Amino acid sequence: MIVYDLCCAVGHRFEGWFGSSADYAAQLERGLVACPQCGSGEVGKAPMAPAVPRKGNRQVERTQSVAGGSLPPEAVAMLENLAEMQAEALKSSTWVGEAFAERSRAIHYGEREAEAIHGQASADQAKALLDEGITVMPLLFPVAAPDELN
Ligand SMILES: [Zn+2]
Repeated sequence: MIVYDLCCAVGHRFEGWFGSSADYAAQLERGLVACPQCGSGEVGKAPMAPAVPRKGNRQVERTQSVAGGSLPPEAVAMLENLAEMQAEALKSSTWVGEAFAERSRAIHYGEREAEAIHGQASADQAKALLDEGITVMPLLFPVAAPDELN
């Protein structure tokens, strides 16, 4: 939806809601846009006052920029916080490598003592764990196995 500030020949100002700018142009051409106060069909876009931007127009612009592919700043900040929390949690977590899925299960079903672990799991393994109600979380940064560091 697009909101336009419209203005009739006499100077009445009103808002018009349209599906798109093309929709607005088509309705105007067919005389379907009229001033609600005097009924005049001589209607055009009112000059915008730069100091008081219309909320409607701004929201449309923002939605389009998100759809264009860039994350809003709040989402980026949230991911950065999460990455920091994960890095902190890894300090007291044990690397279990490819045994991750097996260990997670053992801990979940009480076969092992609970401990923080991290390791490798395929997408299928991670999905299976989640399906069993075991909380796993993808790490937001690459972690090298300790034996790969030497
Ligand atoms: Zn009017």
